[in-house]
Amino acid sequence: MSTLVDHSSVVLYRAPWVIPVTSQTIHNGVVVVHRGRIKAVGPWNEFSTIYSKSPIYNCSGVLMPGLVNAHIHLELSVLGVVSQENPNSTMCDWVRSLLQKRLACQYSEEEIHFAAAKCAHNQFESGVVVLLDTGNTTLPSLSGETPDIHSLLELIGPSAKATQAALLTLDGLAEDVFPTGHAPYSTSPQLLQSIKQRASVKKSVFSLHVEESRDEALLLLQGEGCFYDFLQDRDALDGTFPLAVNSCKSVVDYLHKIEVLDEKTICVHCVFVSDDDIQILAGAKSHVCLCPGSNKFLGVGKARLETFLAHDIIPALGTDSLASNPELSMWHEMALLREEHPAVAPETILAMATIAGASAIGREADYGSLEPGKSSNFIGIEDKKISTAVSEKEVLEILTVIDKPERVIRYSE
Ligand SMILES: [Zn+2]
Repeated sequence: MSTLVDHSSVVLYRAPWVIPVTSQTIHNGVVVVHRGRIKAVGPWNEFSTIYSKSPIYNCSGVLMPGLVNAHIHLELSVLGVVSQENPNSTMCDWVRSLLQKRLACQYSEEEIHFAAAKCAHNQFESGVVVLLDTGNTTLPSLSGETPDIHSLLELIGPSAKATQAALLTLDGLAEDVFPTGHAPYSTSPQLLQSIKQRASVKKSVFSLHVEESRDEALLLLQGEGCFYDFLQDRDALDGTFPLAVNSCKSVVDYLHKIEVLDEKTICVHCVFVSDDDIQILAGAKSHVCLCPGSNKFLGVGKARLETFLAHDIIPALGTDSLASNPELSMWHEMALLREEHPAVAPETILAMATIAGASAIGREADYGSLEPGKSSNFIGIEDKKISTAVSEKEVLEILTVIDKPERVIRYSE
C-alpha cells in the first residue's frame, strides 16, 4: 500500500495520545495524512520506519477529531446573553425577553454579521470543525477563520395566516437554501410537513426544537400553558392549537404521526420525553441533540441521557445560542454532562461531541472520528493535566471535565 504513495506528500502527526473516538485510544500514536485526508491511524512504532522521510509534527498532548456543534444560532450572537428576570421565570418569559430585545435594539445587518462571525471564530478556536447553524435569516458567508458551517433557514407559522406566508417563502427559496422548522409550538402541522417534504427532496437535515419545555405539550394537546398565553397575547390563536388530532399521546407521537421523524431529522433538547417517546425516536432512527448548558440557563431541567443511551441513541451535543448559554463552549457542555450524568462513561460523552454530531448533520464522511478517508482537519489538545496522565481512562476523564483546555491546536493539511 505504502509503495503507491509519494512519501514526500505524507505528513505525520505524532502525540502521546491519539483518540480516534470510533476505536481504541492509542498511547504514543500517529495520524498519517496524505493530501488533505487521513491515510492511517495507529501506534508510532508501526509507521515511523515506513514514513521515515516524511515531515513530523509533534503534539505534546492529545490528537482527536474536531468537535461538532450540532445546534447553534449564530445570528442571535448580537443580542448577547438574554437573562431570565427572576428564578420563577418560564421559558416563555425568556422568549418574550429575547423578542423584545431583538425588536428594541434594531441591530443593523452589519452588527448581526460581525457578532456572528466573532462567535463562529470563537467556536473555531475552541476546536469546533463543523457546526449546524439555524437562523431566521440567511447570513452572508462569514469572514475569518470559522468552522465548516451548515446553515438552515428556520420558518415559523403558528397560525393559518402565518403558515400561508411561510409557505410562500418556502416556495420562493433559492435552491441552495435549506429550510427547517422552529418548534411544534410555533409551527403548524401543515408547515412542518411542507418543510420536511422539501428537506427530504433535497436530502437535507431537518432540525427541530422538541420538548424543551413542558408547556409545549400543554399547548399542543390541551390548549393550555404559557405558550398558549404567549400566542393569545400576540393574537395568533386561530384554532391551529391545540391540535385537532386528539389521538396523539405526546409531542413526539404527534411528530411521528405527521411523518416528520426519520434518519434526517434532529430533535433538539428533548428534555420532557417519555420512554415511549424515546422508543418512537429510536424506531424512526431520528437523531437527538442535547443542549445541557442552555437547559440549565433556562431552568427547564435535564434531558434523560441514560435512557437515550439504553435505547441505543447516542445524542449529539449543541451549545444553542449565546442568548441562552453564556459559556457557548462544547468543552463546557461536556463537563456539564459529566457533572449531571456521572454514570455515563467519558468515551460516550466524547462520542456525543464528535461522531454523534457528525452523523446527525450528515458529515460523518469527513468529521467525527480519526479514520482513514476522513478530513485531515482535526485538533490537538495540550494541557498540563494531560501531560501527567498515565492511562487512556485518565486521559478521557480529563478531556471530558477539563472545561477550558490550555491550548487547542487546529491541524489541517
Ligand atoms: Zn435553539
